[in-house]
Amino acid sequence: GSGISLVAEGKLTTCTHLPYEPFQFRKDNKVVGFDVDIVDLVAKQLKVTQEIVDTPFEGIQTGEDLNAGKCDLAAAGMTITPVREQNLDFSAPYFDATQALIAKKGSPYTSLAGLKGRKLGVQQGTTGETYAKKNGAGVETVQFEDVALLLTAVKTGQVDAAVNDNGVLFEYVRKNPELAVTAEFDTGEKYGIAVRTGNTALREEIDKAVKAARADGRYEAIYTKWFPA
Ligand code: GLN
Repeated sequence: GSGISLVAEGKLTTCTHLPYEPFQFRKDNKVVGFDVDIVDLVAKQLKVTQEIVDTPFEGIQTGEDLNAGKCDLAAAGMTITPVREQNLDFSAPYFDATQALIAKKGSPYTSLAGLKGRKLGVQQGTTGETYAKKNGAGVETVQFEDVALLLTAVKTGQVDAAVNDNGVLFEYVRKNPELAVTAEFDTGEKYGIAVRTGNTALREEIDKAVKAARADGRYEAIYTKWFPA
C-alpha cells in the first residue's frame, strides 16, 4: 500500500456537509461535485475508493470530526483560516472564493449597509457568518444550518438577503433566476482540504495529486465540468 494509514481500510473517508452545490451535492442518489472529483484524484493516487460522510459543518470546521477519526480528510468548500488552522491542517489552496450577497431579483439589497434593520441569512459556522457579523452593523443576522435552508429562506422572504460563497450563489441563481447575486465582497478566500493536525503524509498526498492534476489538465477539466463558462 501507500503507507498512509486510513480510518477504514481500502477507503479514503471524506467528511463533508451536504448540500453545497456545485462542490458537493446529491444527484441521482450519488454525491457528486467539484470537491468530490478533487478528492477522487487523491483516492486514485492512493489506489483506494472515496467514501463520503455527510455531517454538520460545525464538526468539520472545528476539527472535531477529524480528531475523532470520523474521516481521513474534510472537503467541504472550506476556507483556510488562521482559527481553523489551530485545530486542523490544510492542503495547499485548491480553489479561490469570495463572499457574496444574494437577494430577490430587483430588490434594493446590494450592500450590507443597505440591510440595516433588515434580516440577513447566514450559514452557521461559516466565513460568511463571520463576515456578515463583522461588517453588518445594525443588520439582523439569522442562522441556518445549511445552504439549502438558507437559500429557501431568501426565496420565501423569511430573510431579505443572504451571504455565502460566490461559487455556490452563482450556481443557485443559474437555477433560480428569480434571485440575483447583488454584491461580491472580495474576501479573497482560499479553499483547502483538511486533515488531522500532524497528518503530513496525507496532506502531502493531497498536494501531490492536485499539483499533478493542475499540470496535466485534469484540474482544468474538473473546473469546466462544474463551472461551465
Ligand atoms: N467557505 C465557507 C467556509 O469555509 C463555507 C463553507 C461551507 O458552507 N461548506 O466557512
